[in-house]
Amino acid sequence: MRFLLWLFAIIAAFLLLRSLLEPVVKAVVALLSPAAERPAQSVPPPRSAELKKDPVCGAFVSPEIAVTQKFGNEIVHFCSQKCRDEYARTARA
Ligand SMILES: [Zn+2]
Repeated sequence: MRFLLWLFAIIAAFLLLRSLLEPVVKAVVALLSPAAERPAQSVPPPRSAELKKDPVCGAFVSPEIAVTQKFGNEIVHFCSQKCRDEYARTARA
């Protein structure tokens, strides 16, 4: 029966050691994980999907810098005022 007693003592010691180590492991993971996430958060989201096509010259322009004009219910994006004037001229004609 001494063997079973030893086995029980070893298991109890293992469980105690694990419960003592668990907060330490969690603290280490918490310290390491924000550092690992930081580079991913600093990368801005891709904006290529937001590009609008200039119907006059065919150039793709970002809506943030594009010259916009509303024709009916549609907002049209242009690379320059020259293209916008050209589109307005041909749209009226
Ligand atoms: Zn253009």
